[in-house]
This record gives sequence, structure tokens and C-alpha cells, in this order.
Amino acid sequence: MTTVEQDTILRDVPLELFLDGAWRSASDGLRIPVYDPATGKEIASVANASVSDGIAAVDAAHKAGPGWAATPPRVRAEILRRAFEAMTDRTEKLAALIVLENGKTLADARGEVAYAAEFFRWYAEEAVRAVGTVQLAPSGANRILVVRKPIGVSVLVTPWNFPAAMATRKIGPALAAGCTVVLKPASETPLTALAIAEILMEVGVPAGVVNVLPSARSGPVVQAMLDDARVRKLSFTGSTEVGRRLLATAAKTVVSPSMELGGNAPFIVFADADLDAAVDIAMVAKMRNGGEACTAANRFYVQQGVAARFTALLAERMAAQKMGHGLDASVSLGPLVNAATREKVAQLVEGTVAMGASVVTGGSIKDGPGYFYPPTVLAEVPPGAPVLTEEIFGPVAPVVVFDDEAESIAMANDSEYGLVSYVCTRDLARGLRVAEAMDSGMVGLNRGIVSDPAAPFGGTKQSGLGREGGHDGLLEFTESQYIAVNW
Ligand code: NAD
Repeated sequence: MTTVEQDTILRDVPLELFLDGAWRSASDGLRIPVYDPATGKEIASVANASVSDGIAAVDAAHKAGPGWAATPPRVRAEILRRAFEAMTDRTEKLAALIVLENGKTLADARGEVAYAAEFFRWYAEEAVRAVGTVQLAPSGANRILVVRKPIGVSVLVTPWNFPAAMATRKIGPALAAGCTVVLKPASETPLTALAIAEILMEVGVPAGVVNVLPSARSGPVVQAMLDDARVRKLSFTGSTEVGRRLLATAAKTVVSPSMELGGNAPFIVFADADLDAAVDIAMVAKMRNGGEACTAANRFYVQQGVAARFTALLAERMAAQKMGHGLDASVSLGPLVNAATREKVAQLVEGTVAMGASVVTGGSIKDGPGYFYPPTVLAEVPPGAPVLTEEIFGPVAPVVVFDDEAESIAMANDSEYGLVSYVCTRDLARGLRVAEAMDSGMVGLNRGIVSDPAAPFGGTKQSGLGREGGHDGLLEFTESQYIAVNW
């Protein structure tokens, strides 16, 4: 990529805090450098919100709250619909920006923009459907009327791996429900979030309804906002470790939490599966976003009899990936987001090989700029190996052999996480039986991608609380009020 290309992508991208409808520098003037993970070079710097900026954003969201909640749902819906259209129109620009700050490939980035924009379209349609209920009390004495009200000022905290979609998956339903928000994007990828703020301003979101505050001081800034009794909702997507800490903070003011946390997805291949299709599905489940997805297949369990063939086919496909800068359209695997992420992946692989696993392809870092890690397949992975117990977040596929259905279910559920599971089989009865036995919030049955704005996304166990997307996603930003009525 040339400097001219980079300058074109970054031209006119907002770099300040978006607070109360205006662009502002941080109260103490500090900034956060943003890097291109493919080169390791700084490409921009954005304002770094302080604690007082966080409180100023809560002030703005609180002030804008009653007006936004009273705005007719149809008007809110039409603003969200315009946001969908504006985002779609700007696909190429936003996709290039995502590649530049996150490192993913252009194809993945375009896919993300389409997925992200769909949350605005879906919640434009849901904004007019925050329906309540009415029923006769069992005693017959009165009516039970239940209405859905916006929960109030919402703090949204998002990760770097889907900088557009994780923001719109929260902003869409919050605005549809009538809530005002403060979004704190990940400090690795603030540019996309600020570009989305600009779109929302252009399509008519009133001042203070959406505030976007990048901050490298996440701990104190988010804590100060959660300690403020005017904040009623925390919607967090990120690691289980940080999620646990934020749940403890939210407990102090009894803030309603929605938590989309880490995953460790099992991918089960039965001997009756169409093996070529299973490899295609595996590539999608493993390699979308270069493995940097909470939904990424983390552990491959393959039935005895087809394991050697599946492993060979998967290794062939993995080895054929072209690594490079995501803006080169022929590239199918970009870098990991930063040096620490690559180091963690390398350590997981080394630890697993030290326990006796064999490397079928990949397995070691090559010299050069950027945070690249080669596509890797590991076989003979022993129980308890770190690649099986921890979230890999990189292009590494460990393969384990199982004998029968019961063993595959036990292995798949042997995790503290429960976000998503994948099952490949031609036998639909078995597929549904195993899917229901999975202790996870989502299952991909002969399918490597489950994310859909119309479906409830979320996990069981330590993968989180609550759901995003679908009608459930809207309800997370509402509170029901019950009125006992005599009429
Ligand atoms: P992270 O937990 O390090 O950071 C997530 C966000 O929290 C960022 O905005 C970060 O700045 C902020 N943060 C960090 N420390 C904080 C603190 N003490 N107080 C307040 N905020 C803090 O996660 P990450 O590395 O950005 O993202 C990767 C993780 O996100 C993975 O575990 C992945 O599985 C998870 N994830 C989950 C989903 C899902 O829907 N379940 C989706 C995408 C990513």
C-alpha cells in the first residue's frame, strides 16, 4: 500500500471525541496512536477521553434522554433506516478504514460493513415493535398491563475485532428502544467508530443521543460512568476477564448488564459428513477474520475413520492461504491485530507442541514487518493442551480424534465457555440431537457462520449474559413496567 492510498483512506476521517453532537479534543489534550497491524506503523492519532470527558458524555446522554425517548418510534426508525443506507453507500471507504486499523482482509471488511449496516436496518424495523401485553389477572379482579420503556442512558463498550458491527449491534437496538448512549470503542480501532458517529450525525441523530469516546484509559473512564447513578445499562463485548471485572463494577449501582464475552467453539465432524463440505465449513468457521472472532472454531473434534483425511484436506486449504496486507484484494489472511495477540497465539502453539502435538502446517512466525502468524494445523493434540482450553484468537486449528457421539458431546461441552458450537453430519436427526446437547447459546449445523442481525446472538456459561440481535436485542435496552388496572 502506498502513502497516497493510505492518505486517501484517512482523508476527512474524524479524529476527535464525538460528544454532545460536536467534535472535541480530550479535556487534557491526550491522544491515542493508531497503528496498521500489517506494517506496525502509526497511521493516525485520536483524542483519548479522560474521566471528565466520560462524565460530560453521560451529562449529554442524560440531557438528551427524555427527548429521544419521546421521539415517535416511526421517526427513530426512519433515522436508523437512513443510517443503514448511508453506511451501505460508504461501504468501500469504511471497509478500507477497517482493514487499515484492524488488519483483516478487504473481503472480510466488506462483509463486516454489510453485516454492521444490517443492524441499523433490522432495528429500524424493530423500533416500531417494542410491544407490551395485556391480560386478565388469574383472580379476574383486574387487568395486568405491561409496557416496555427505554432503560435509559447506556454505556456501550466494544472490542477491536469487529469495529463496525460490534458498535452497530449495540447502537441500533439502543436507539430503536429510545435510549441514549456513550460508546467506548477499543483503542486499537477507534477510527471506524468515529466514522459511524459521523454517519449518525449526518442522518439526523440529535446531539447527545450518541456519544463516542475512544479512550486508552478504559478502566477509570468506564468505571466513572458506571458509578454514575444516571447510567442504567452496560452493554459490553470483549474478553471474559474484563467482563467479569465490569460485572463487579456494575453491581455497585445495580446497572443492567449485557455481556458478550469470549468463546471456545468446538467443531464436530461425524464420519457420515460430506467431508469436502465439512472442510469448506471449517474454513469459514476458523478463518473468518483470520481466526480473530469470538465465534471462531477453536477445537476440531473429528470422528475416527475420517480424521486423517479431514486433517489433510484442512491443512491443504490452510497452507494455500495468501498472507499479506488486507488492502491487496488477492490476500486471504491479514495480520493479527497487535504484537501481544501474536505472541499469545505463538505461546499457545508452542505449549501444545511441547505436550506432544504434531505440526501439520504452519506453526512458527516468519521474520518481517507486521503481526503475521501463518495458518496452522495441529494433530495428535493431547487433552488439556492450551489450544483446547483457551481462546486462540488466531489462524490455528487443533484436531482431536473421537470414537462415538457421546464422547464428542462430552469433549465439546468440556469448557468454561459456551458461545457457539459447530456440527457437521449428513444425518439430520443426529445433527439436531447433538445440537440440542451442546451447552452453548448458538449452534451452526452444517454451517460455519451463525451471525445474523435477525437472530439472538449470545452465550451460556462464561461466554456471557443476554442476547444481541433479533427481537431479544431490542428487549435488552428496555425495562418492562407492569400496571395493575381496573377499568
Ligand atoms: P478486551 O476485553 O480486552 O476489550 C474489550 C473492550 O473493553 C475494549 O473497548 C477495551 O478497551 C475495554 N476494556 C479493557 N479493559 C477495560 C476495563 N478494565 N474497564 C473497562 N473497559 C475495558 O477484549 P478485546 O481484546 O478487545 O476483544 C477480544 C475479546 O472479545 C475476545 O475474548 C472475544 O471472544 C471477545 N468478543 C466477544 C464477542 C461476543 O459477541 N461474544 C464478539 C467479539 C469479541
